[in-house]
Amino acid sequence: MSKNAFYFFMLDWAKEQERRGLSAPKNFKELSAACSDDWKNLSSQKKGIYKARAKQYKIKSQSNASTDKKTTTGESLALLELQEKKEQEFHQNMLRYIESVVSLGVLHNNLPKLKFIFIHTNWFCKKNIGINKYEFFPAEFAVAEFSIENGIEDIYHELLKPKIPLGWRRDAIEISQQTHQIPINLEDGENDFSLMYDKFTKFLDARKTGNKYPPLFTLKDLYPAVESLLMKMIDDDRGCLEDYLIYSIEALFTELRNTAIKNVSSHDLPLVIGEYRFSKDYFSDRRGYECDFHKIIDVTQYCSKSIVTRWGFLICDYCCDYLDIEMIEGVHRPHDLHFDINIEKQMYDIQCRTKKLNIEREQTTKVDKVNGNRKLHIVTKHKNEISQRSDKEKLNRWNADTSIDRIDNIKPGTSQTNTATVSTNIKLNMPMRPLRAPKTTAQALEIDETIDPLNEVNFPPIDLKFIFTSKQVDEVLQFIEKTMYRLNCLWEEDVEDIK
Ligand SMILES: [Zn+2]
Repeated sequence: MSKNAFYFFMLDWAKEQERRGLSAPKNFKELSAACSDDWKNLSSQKKGIYKARAKQYKIKSQSNASTDKKTTTGESLALLELQEKKEQEFHQNMLRYIESVVSLGVLHNNLPKLKFIFIHTNWFCKKNIGINKYEFFPAEFAVAEFSIENGIEDIYHELLKPKIPLGWRRDAIEISQQTHQIPINLEDGENDFSLMYDKFTKFLDARKTGNKYPPLFTLKDLYPAVESLLMKMIDDDRGCLEDYLIYSIEALFTELRNTAIKNVSSHDLPLVIGEYRFSKDYFSDRRGYECDFHKIIDVTQYCSKSIVTRWGFLICDYCCDYLDIEMIEGVHRPHDLHFDINIEKQMYDIQCRTKKLNIEREQTTKVDKVNGNRKLHIVTKHKNEISQRSDKEKLNRWNADTSIDRIDNIKPGTSQTNTATVSTNIKLNMPMRPLRAPKTTAQALEIDETIDPLNEVNFPPIDLKFIFTSKQVDEVLQFIEKTMYRLNCLWEEDVEDIK
């Protein structure tokens, strides 16, 4: 029982009974019943004494609790451990839920028809309301219904104008400018949270299973922001935060992708890799899925409406191929472009080339270092000689020398690996190209009539693009992963041998 004023009165009452030679009930329930009348008749002054005792006890027990180990930020370690345990439990429950829903979908042969709810929110600022606890001031949010079969089907979207607390406006403006660019006093921004809650629950009501709302899938990092948004919307009389489950869209993506690929491969993506792939946001440059506001200011990337749509595209991109679903533009993939050679590949090519260049430069530098001193010596000597020559000498030298001689003098022959010099040599020692007869066309300009430039076999249309589907990307990545693993094994064996 809680140790309030009555509790301490009860203890005294029992002692008093014993002192008088009367027996007091040992059971708390009976004891409290026996002394309750006396408590009621107790003067408020005496009750006050017991209240003070209870208060003192509370303070003491709290200070005892504070002798618990604490972290550097002053949090109770025991409390943190408990919280961590809760989070782990929550995570496990989430994984179990996703796994069971998806496997049921497979069992009933309706995986592509399964509906999921996505939610994304942008915010102006986050106010610290405790250790590692924040209150977010939302700027925009979008809730969408998704299925692999039909992509994103329905979206509820809002732009907000929350009351930014004093001292946080600067933060809000900065965050806005760096990301979504929604002004803090947007004229059409909604600030009636209960109205938004009505619309929000109306959207979800149709998707309820029994009397439960479907889980809301969002990015792992956005959990606190979504939670804060829900808390602002929830009216105490109508609902509570516990009615809503906020789950990881990365986990859903990984499970869907791993299930879809099962017919072809048993290579499961671990969750961390799934999270990484999902974070790539391949379609961030695709336009036409943003809200009206972001369409006007031409900011697509950060728009919540565009983001939930892109999540849908990304999941479809990884799953449709394996589930034999024909990818329809605007439903399963963005409208304008194909998923062509991605920027990563181009970056990789550039990196390779740079690396190669660096190796060449390094080699050149090494050679130059060897010859450097000698060259410097020759150059200085030559400069001195020139400055000491008279005009007459110069003229004699000019008449005597031929250009060929001069070229031969340059011929170094010592630095074969010096790329710059080698290329000069090749140029100079190359047999001269025979001059063509005057008034004839250059060979390169002569058109061979026998070659048909419209021949599709030898001359495929130029606008034909390489299209890498996620399936192919997956295969290539798997191959690389395997090769890297093998290389690593070989390397380790080598190291063992050396030892
Ligand atoms: Zn937007």
